[in-house]
Amino acid sequence: MNDVVTNSRNHTGSLNAAGVSIQNLRKSYGTNEVLKGISLNVSPGEVVCLIGPSGSGKSTLLRCVNLLEQPNEGTIHVGGFDATDPDVDIDRMRRKVGMVFQQFNLFPHLSALRNCTVAQTKVLKRSQSEADKVAHANLERVGLGHLADRYPDQLSGGQQQRVAIARALSMDPELMLFDEPTSALDPETVGDVLSVMRNLAKEGMTMLVVTHEMGFAREVADRVVFMDGGVVVEEGVAEQVISAPTQGRTKEFLKRVL
Ligand code: ADP
Ligand code: MG
Repeated sequence: MNDVVTNSRNHTGSLNAAGVSIQNLRKSYGTNEVLKGISLNVSPGEVVCLIGPSGSGKSTLLRCVNLLEQPNEGTIHVGGFDATDPDVDIDRMRRKVGMVFQQFNLFPHLSALRNCTVAQTKVLKRSQSEADKVAHANLERVGLGHLADRYPDQLSGGQQQRVAIARALSMDPELMLFDEPTSALDPETVGDVLSVMRNLAKEGMTMLVVTHEMGFAREVADRVVFMDGGVVVEEGVAEQVISAPTQGRTKEFLKRVL
């Protein structure tokens, strides 16, 4: 299912994976400081799972990485771009970053295929036939080549989320951000989505994944970062953070989710 096109590779076949480097990131909404000096690096090709209680700032952190939110302080480098440089070419930088949300946000009036082509033709200026080719390859890659003509309401939640992943991949991202991609799904469709993500990780995609799926984190993540109250409380190799956390807050959180 994933041996079709690996468009995280460039035209010469080598992998285009971008790293992320976040230094002392601060973000407030009014007087509510949500991110209180976060530093976090993800190397090219690395998979980092971000865990932590609701309200700890995980989504805000992801949204700062592709500038859906403007940080107040600190720096973020993505690939060769300095996201916090006022002169940064935001559009070019964002193109390196694919994002998948808890709510899939597919266009309801477009087929799975068209969901995967619209930004290709509008943003990347690809021809319709090239966009179709890329979209088909990515729908195959997520196991949905046979459902390309279905509309979102004719697909299960897990299938819709896989279309959302194919749509993001169709833009040739060098980094993928996932914000609780399986939290809104029926349990029986979670596995297919995680399996697509596992394959993507194997191909060498850089991934920053907010998730409560500890099994996935343990198996796929190179590192796990635990956030609480807008700070990184603990981080390390997945097995160590999940099985032998050192901080009380981490232990308490894991007790609730495991
Ligand atoms: P998490 O994803 O870990 O649950 P969030 O990043 O969504 O946490 O939220 C962290 C805090 O920031 C919460 O207290 C939330 O209410 C607040 N927050 C998030 N987005 C906004 C916003 N657009 N405006 C005001 N407050 C926000
Ligand atoms: Mg969130």
